[in-house]
Amino acid sequence: MTALIIAIDGPAAAGKGTLARRLAARYGLPHLDTGLLYRVIGRRVLDLGGDPADVAAAEAAARVIAPEDFIRADLRGPVADEAASRVAAYPAVRAALLDYQRGFGAARGAVLDGRDIGTVIFPNATAKLFVTASAEARGLRRWRELKAREIDADLEEVTAEVRARDAADAVRAASPLRPAEDALLLDTTLLDAEGAYLRALDLLAEKLPSPIRSP
Ligand code: C5P
Repeated sequence: MTALIIAIDGPAAAGKGTLARRLAARYGLPHLDTGLLYRVIGRRVLDLGGDPADVAAAEAAARVIAPEDFIRADLRGPVADEAASRVAAYPAVRAALLDYQRGFGAARGAVLDGRDIGTVIFPNATAKLFVTASAEARGLRRWRELKAREIDADLEEVTAEVRARDAADAVRAASPLRPAEDALLLDTTLLDAEGAYLRALDLLAEKLPSPIRSP
């Protein structure tokens, strides 16, 4: 039997992570936030005093990811965002992460969120969602997250950073950010987390078997 895979892609701060965690709980599947993989690599390069734009350093970091890397406290914030997006543009880095992501899903099925899950990692996923929201709504969400962590930031700057990262992710040659042809589109601009979850359940209903839990 083929493993049940839910692929969730979309730009930064569109609500993918929260949605992916809830869908994973509902369908009894493990969840992989694939953005963390690129964040860890960016951080490792920075730790060594390197430049995330250095492809050899980024590729070397991609080959030594360890479980303890994922619980680091410094994987979020503007520096980590920028470093992740830079290393993610290199085909060699992406190639080094391919087997890990596919292996994660193949074992027991999974919900994976990222930028290329439905297009590259699992093109035959059981169901694909492409989650978007306006740049203003996403900037505001990212700014609120920073504020909740007591990080001072300017809303306009945060929104500009979100826009710039999406643009870089969308124009790169290697696995650019774009919806798979068979992805279901979910715009969360006017939805809170609960609303996005309920809308996703509606969209997914025809593609997925009965869930193990009620909403
Ligand atoms: O999802 P998150 O914001 O944590 O991702 C950080 C960066 O990692 C993104 O801006 C993108 O450049 C990269 N990424 C990617 N492919 C994925 C997940 C993340 O290129 N599947």
